[in-house]
Amino acid sequence: MSTTTTLAERDTRFVWHPFTQMQEWTDPLVIERAEGNTLIDAEGRRYLDGVSSLWCNVHGHRHPVLDAALRAQLDRVAHSTLLGLANVPSIELAERLIDVAPSGLTKVFYSDSGSTSVEVALKMAFQAQQQRGQAQRTRFLALREAYHGDTIGSVSVGGMDLFHSIFRPMLFDALHIPPTLAALDEVFAKHGSELVAFVVEPLVQGAAGMLLQPPGFLRRARDLCTQHGVFLICDEVATGFGRTGTLFACEQESVSPDLLCLAKGITGGYLPLAATLTTDEVFRAFLAPYAEKRTFFHGHTYTGNPLACAVACASLDLFKTERVLERVNERAQQLATRLASDVAPLPHVGEIRQRGLMVGIELVRDRATATPYAYEDAIGARVCADVRRRGVILRPLGPVVVLMPPLSITAAEVDQLVSATRASIEAVCR
Ligand code: PMP
Repeated sequence: MSTTTTLAERDTRFVWHPFTQMQEWTDPLVIERAEGNTLIDAEGRRYLDGVSSLWCNVHGHRHPVLDAALRAQLDRVAHSTLLGLANVPSIELAERLIDVAPSGLTKVFYSDSGSTSVEVALKMAFQAQQQRGQAQRTRFLALREAYHGDTIGSVSVGGMDLFHSIFRPMLFDALHIPPTLAALDEVFAKHGSELVAFVVEPLVQGAAGMLLQPPGFLRRARDLCTQHGVFLICDEVATGFGRTGTLFACEQESVSPDLLCLAKGITGGYLPLAATLTTDEVFRAFLAPYAEKRTFFHGHTYTGNPLACAVACASLDLFKTERVLERVNERAQQLATRLASDVAPLPHVGEIRQRGLMVGIELVRDRATATPYAYEDAIGARVCADVRRRGVILRPLGPVVVLMPPLSITAAEVDQLVSATRASIEAVCR
């Protein structure tokens, strides 16, 4: 029995994988190491990391600068708590995040995943409204098909039936609208005085299948929130740290949210860390003598973990020293050109949606009649299984094939990514 077989068997026996039908989980691919944008399995086969290890890797794997930052921090301390103590890397990172974030954001609250960054934002916004005399504000507004994570609060503002409908009885009631200016105007006119906050993935709804918002949508949302005393929560868990071509997507509509949720790429994809940034206005709603119990009673054991914060600081350095955003825009251009020439003409490609290095290729059964594939066709999953044989790792969202490579992807790797994707779509969608 080879090592791989043994590892694969042990995985199948002991590990329950996320978002995975375990009845169909056979023969797992076991990753053992990586180099740059390439993942390497236990038998030495190499795969381009086409979805950035679930949308989080930024500068490639085993980047020497990130590795060194992590090792240096390991020589000091791996973890100490932020409950009642401070630590060096979490101070440095908070200062650096405030420096690069949209203006007006002045405080950083740490947690450890995208879901918790949203959970924190929801609770913080709610409590702030309550404590500033707005007790009637109890509802949240979100978008249809929204995805903000898997904890119960973030699922409550989520709008993807496939993931969320079974939990309805456990959830709080939120309002959901389509991403149009008219829907925004209408919901604020009707419900503006009862809303705590509008929570939104700016520009691109990732998990919904890379759905793009109309230009001006986020700007209009910001203006309506301000007019109606509603907080704007931007969930940049997926879009943050350069994915859409700017460090944060909100910048593209000159929007500063009241709360900004960050995770995934914050550590360059190295360690679990998240941050919810907010304004002085929100922060002040919690300040009072101890006995008044206005404290934000929320926090996780690994909040502000020093290893994660140290690597996050090093990752922010790389954005400057390696001119990452410039390169992203070049690669995004190249990707757009190649997708237009090689993938868009394929008969089963319904639409290609792209913002920076976030791409969704929507597959349809029949393009002329816009007939979708059935869920049981598992078309996206089949294309991704095929592309793996061509040395590329992708993970679909239903019938949408997602390309979301590390920002460090090279020109040659863009070519490899598009060629393999094209070949697999052709092979599977006959
Ligand atoms: N918000 C958005 C926009 C996301 O895309 C995701 C994850 N894909 C999350 C929140 C949840 O993040 P995590 O999986 O780290 O909890």
